Amino acid sequence: MVSLHKVEHGGAANDSAASEEPPAGTCAETPPAALNAALGAMRAAVRTRPIPDIETRRTWLRALERILLLHEDEIAQSIAADFGGRSRHETALAEIFATVSAVRHNHRHAKRWATKDRAITALHLLPGRTRIIRRPLGVVGVVSPWNYPVHLALVPAAGALAAGNRVLLKPSELTPRTAALLRRLVADHFDPDVFRVVTGGAETGRAFSRLPFDHLFFTGSTEVGRRVAAAAAETLTPVTLELGGKSPAVVLGDADLSLTARRLAFGKFLNAGQTCVAPDYVLAAPETASRLAPLILRTVEERFGGDHGADDYSCIISQRHFDRLRALVEDAVARGAQRHQPVGFSGAQGRRFPPTLLTGVTPEMRVMQEEIFGPVLPIVALGEEDRFAAFIGERAHPLALYVFGKDKRAVDRLIAGTQSGGVTVNDTLWHMAQDDVPFGGVGESGMGAYHGERGFLTFSHQRAVFEQSRMAGTDLLHPPYGRTFSRIVSVLKRFA
Ligand code: NAD
Repeated sequence: MVSLHKVEHGGAANDSAASEEPPAGTCAETPPAALNAALGAMRAAVRTRPIPDIETRRTWLRALERILLLHEDEIAQSIAADFGGRSRHETALAEIFATVSAVRHNHRHAKRWATKDRAITALHLLPGRTRIIRRPLGVVGVVSPWNYPVHLALVPAAGALAAGNRVLLKPSELTPRTAALLRRLVADHFDPDVFRVVTGGAETGRAFSRLPFDHLFFTGSTEVGRRVAAAAAETLTPVTLELGGKSPAVVLGDADLSLTARRLAFGKFLNAGQTCVAPDYVLAAPETASRLAPLILRTVEERFGGDHGADDYSCIISQRHFDRLRALVEDAVARGAQRHQPVGFSGAQGRRFPPTLLTGVTPEMRVMQEEIFGPVLPIVALGEEDRFAAFIGERAHPLALYVFGKDKRAVDRLIAGTQSGGVTVNDTLWHMAQDDVPFGGVGESGMGAYHGERGFLTFSHQRAVFEQSRMAGTDLLHPPYGRTFSRIVSVLKRFA
């Protein structure tokens, strides 16, 4: 689908900021007046062209695809520089492949999603006709986090553009090189009133979330999500909140433990645990837990032990985040947990935090109170499998739930007895990496969803249109109300 022409005519190179990239490692702050001006320009564009046709939207999506495919190396280098070390392979999988796949899915299906308009007309309104128009909302604001700084910026943008919206994006200040790169690439490939990137930290984020967007799409922590929702409430801006939380991995007694260990280790140590849907902790019966721990440790040693695989193990985003993880582990050890790390882990230079298993974990430990968001995996040994659903239910609804086990009925019981944004059975992460199922949290892990058609709907207004016929039964319901009215209403009540 890649072709080499610039998107939309008349697009003067996006914003002057392309030439004002900040010094490496810092993030340029877009001043509030510039935020307002950017939104104002997009609004004006929406007024002149409120419903871009499908071919235009596809051109936008092709431009996103070009950004990803033509600049893959630059993207990988800037993310690696921001992290102080990020596996190139993980970037290829999670930032490039997964995002291209989402962009193409939107490209492939946008026409069908946009023209789906069938609705069943209620009996009492026949022979009138009803349809639903899926109309772009207008201008969508996207605030994205640092952990997958391209994927989590461009996948929501793709959904919003496919639905015919203009997009203003504010990436995280913790990946400043990638934010500056996105700003430049988007400026090179898009007209500034179609898609534009502004940069800055929490202050810019605050100003951004106060803008009267037609929709605000936020991905980040639950704590900041609360603030974003409060700010958006002032302008009655609808929000989607893609948040975090502690996603449990439940390992039932009949699970294939060596397969479970390998798949758990993949989900936990990808991007060094800095993944919103990473399994946060393991819940298992004591006997299962004690057999599982050495298998996970062996897997981690095979993958990351010695010199082997150091390049495939990503760094922690900042020293502050690194120190926080160390404090979590030390708190657990001080309260009686056992720490297990691979022998000879040599990736420990820089901010590579050793993959760490914790056993003997209890709920009061900090590691069980906060989202870990790093390569630390507590294994909680809980007496009876019947208690697992209650243990999960006593805590905030997680973004993901993982269940490992062979007995389908036991697995389904656990799914039915718990609540979570999504579920993967006998593996980790993969429910999220699909383009046609909704992705989003529930309760404290988020509100709303995106991906595929669900994303298209998030970024559309579903407008009901009823066309009355010349002869209409409802004309008989006008006042003055009399016997005809009463008869019709009693018939309607019977058949409703
Ligand atoms: P964060 O909440 O600190 O920051 C996210 C974004 O919000 C950044 O762009 C930041 O500049 C901006 N921001 C900060 N303060 C703001 C404010 N007061 N108003 C508006 N914007 C503000 O999150 P983070 O540290 O970048 O990301 C980690 C968190 O994100 C974890 O909790 C993780 O679980 C969650 N997360 C969720 C998903 C998901 O899809 N559900 C994906 C990735 C990360």
